[in-house]
Amino acid sequence: MAKLTVERLKKQFGTSIAVDELTLEVAQGEMVALLGPSGCGKTTTLRMIAGFVAPTSGRMLLGGNDITRVPPHVRETGLVFQSYALFPHMTVAENVGFGLEMRGVSRAQRGPLIAEALGLVRLSHLADRFPKQMSGGQQQRVALARALAISPKLFLLDEPLSNLDAKLRAEVRTEIRALQQRLGLTTLIVTHDREEALTMADRLVVMEGGRVRQVGSGRELYEEPRDAFVAEFVGRCNLLPATREDDERVRTRGGLLLSSRRRADESSSASTLAIRPERIAIEPGHHAEIKGQLEAVTYLGAHTEYQVLLGESERVVVTRPTPVRDDPMLSVRTSDPVSLTWDTEAPRLIPETAKD
Ligand code: ATP
Repeated sequence: MAKLTVERLKKQFGTSIAVDELTLEVAQGEMVALLGPSGCGKTTTLRMIAGFVAPTSGRMLLGGNDITRVPPHVRETGLVFQSYALFPHMTVAENVGFGLEMRGVSRAQRGPLIAEALGLVRLSHLADRFPKQMSGGQQQRVALARALAISPKLFLLDEPLSNLDAKLRAEVRTEIRALQQRLGLTTLIVTHDREEALTMADRLVVMEGGRVRQVGSGRELYEEPRDAFVAEFVGRCNLLPATREDDERVRTRGGLLLSSRRRADESSSASTLAIRPERIAIEPGHHAEIKGQLEAVTYLGAHTEYQVLLGESERVVVTRPTPVRDDPMLSVRTSDPVSLTWDTEAPRLIPETAKD
């Protein structure tokens, strides 16, 4: 396994820029997720790293060696796609051995390598089956084994779970992460699913419009988003335009004074109060500082979501564990007065989403 370094990678299709000077690093044995909405350039980035798309400019290093112009089959990258891309006329073992055969590994040498790769994904007993005789989850594990059989220096995964149903997705997700950690695989995974990225990756790269918005651990991105785009992309977030009133409070555009402690990293241009729904406490009546009116209650099983109107026009969403037994929130109905409180440390003041 080797470290991946991507420097100012750019891809232009005609006049449109799909990837714009992207720089990132995946340390040896680390798993990094490229996360972003459809069309943000994730797949193009992965395909440039795999060698299927030639960059317009920039360079890529694997283990210190420049691979920018190295053809895909000599890059030593193991690739797993969304569509398992297994050959239907080949058995599982033949599929897993395909990459080895292409690299000129003899039949005799392939046998033990195929067996080892199938053992890793716990499919040794199905080596003679054909793909159509297997479930989607098993097929994706065959694709993983095929990518691993060549002992890649870099493991590249392109939305590997999106063809699986929810239960299988969770299973294969856990399996990939366990394998990645056990084998110390340097891995880059592309996904548009934040839960997938948060649960699997050591670090996340949030992309938008071909550019990197923020890089960090799931916790950093969730707790300390740099801008409103990241704040909303990694989880639900209340965003209220506001300006700082003093060290402890901000004033919203609608004229409300809300508590929010000034932070060391706060820029003077900050203009949006960002607070996660679960960081807000809600109670019936108008006894606390922030007074509102309940507009909607949504029961979500373990959690309940409350939409609250503050002042004339500002809305916030609050989530909390669903109230039970004698919890006063049980009897609150739409249009009732409610009050909100939050720890002054809970919100952040961040710049408004800049569409730069
Ligand atoms: P998705 O999650 O939908 O796959 P993505 O983040 O992977 O999206 P890309 O597939 O990398 O995004 O596409 C980035 C941009 O580049 C898009 O605007 C897309 O239309 C454009 N693009 C991608 N491939 C080509 C191509 N071969 N020719 C022209 N434009 C392309």
